[in-house]
Amino acid sequence: MQALLDVYKIKQDFPILKRKLRNGKKLIYLDNAATTQKPKQVIDAICKYYSEYNSNIHRAVYQIAEEATEEYEKTRANIQRFINARYPEEIIFTRNTTESINLIAYTWGEKNIRKGNKIILTEYEHHSNIVPWQMLSNEKGAKINYTDTDENGYLNLESFSKFLEDEEETKLVSLSHMSNVLGTVYPAKEIIKMAHEKKVPVVIDGAQSVPHLRTDVQDLDCDFLAFSAHKMLGPTGVGILYVKKEILEHMPPFITGGDMIKEVHKENTVFNELPYKFEGGTPNIADVIGFNAATEYLKRIGMENVRDHEIELIKYLYNSIKDIKGIKIYGPERVIDRGGLVTFNIEGIHPHDCATILNDFGIAIRSGHHCAQVLMEKLDIIASSRASIYIYNTKEEIDIFVDALNHVRRIFKV
Ligand code: PMP
Repeated sequence: MQALLDVYKIKQDFPILKRKLRNGKKLIYLDNAATTQKPKQVIDAICKYYSEYNSNIHRAVYQIAEEATEEYEKTRANIQRFINARYPEEIIFTRNTTESINLIAYTWGEKNIRKGNKIILTEYEHHSNIVPWQMLSNEKGAKINYTDTDENGYLNLESFSKFLEDEEETKLVSLSHMSNVLGTVYPAKEIIKMAHEKKVPVVIDGAQSVPHLRTDVQDLDCDFLAFSAHKMLGPTGVGILYVKKEILEHMPPFITGGDMIKEVHKENTVFNELPYKFEGGTPNIADVIGFNAATEYLKRIGMENVRDHEIELIKYLYNSIKDIKGIKIYGPERVIDRGGLVTFNIEGIHPHDCATILNDFGIAIRSGHHCAQVLMEKLDIIASSRASIYIYNTKEEIDIFVDALNHVRRIFKV
């Protein structure tokens, strides 16, 4: 593993991982599913923009504006290659995955969803892939069908295909490629194929998958893909929405105003060409440029190596905690079916207490409902603890985490 991905060398690139916390402990960051840390290459790219060529894009003719426009558009071209989209105009900059999904709901959804139509989601979706569809369905009089998951966190493909049989009324499938709670990586390609056989388009929430798995939108054949820069070494405030060009061409705009227009008259407006029609107002230029440095960084490592590192580490983590007395780990036992996270509860210990005590060891994990309350209801829990890894985490850190977890058990005498 380490021949492919030199985790100790990578760690050196992350200033935050060198800091000491208030109690003198080193930070052990295991909340990567929430957001990842940023390498100095990303921080430097943002700093360079503000120090050397800060200006607004797409308009002025002077040198620094040209430089800013060039760098901004370079990110688009690199994202296109990163996910193997056919055209750069299929890449739209948003603020995050949440905004990307909202954009689909408010534009494509507004135009295509009607009374009596059905949208298929799953029970494990993040709130950002539920609420926009609820809002749309309530407004239109449409219905949401939730595909269930089994005890091991796998999707019930039989119930999915039953929902699809209602092909007259089913107009959209939207699902996350990887659950941010169960950790399951779902067979997106197979699911998309099933939906397409019934002529139903598919939205993939790639917030947890794109940062960890090589993503090829042409191979997947998804119609829409949403993801966030901040979960893949990039800055906050930048999201991506990929839409197949032939669909995008028929979508009405979302945020309207400056930049997204070609001409504005008293009574009418001619919209700008793709993708600018969907990027109203001054965008987050600095962070889009910072995102480019993040994708360059990941490309240098290689997404296959990212995945191999995570599989090895998550296997180690899973096996280190699976026999702890009273532990319940959610999601697949077959570690190869997981991304880089493990969500668990220990009988008799509230997840918030667990996370608070781990904090004394410098360990950052997430506790709570993880923005997946529909799934929490199904699992019949109100909260859980989640440890999630990325390219800079090591086995030594997992060992410290496991020791700390045993310390928590001793405190609670379980
Ligand atoms: N979907 C999934 C599966 C997620 O894990 C998250 C973030 N936790 C989101 C969507 C939302 O991402 P953002 O907050 O960047 O919009």
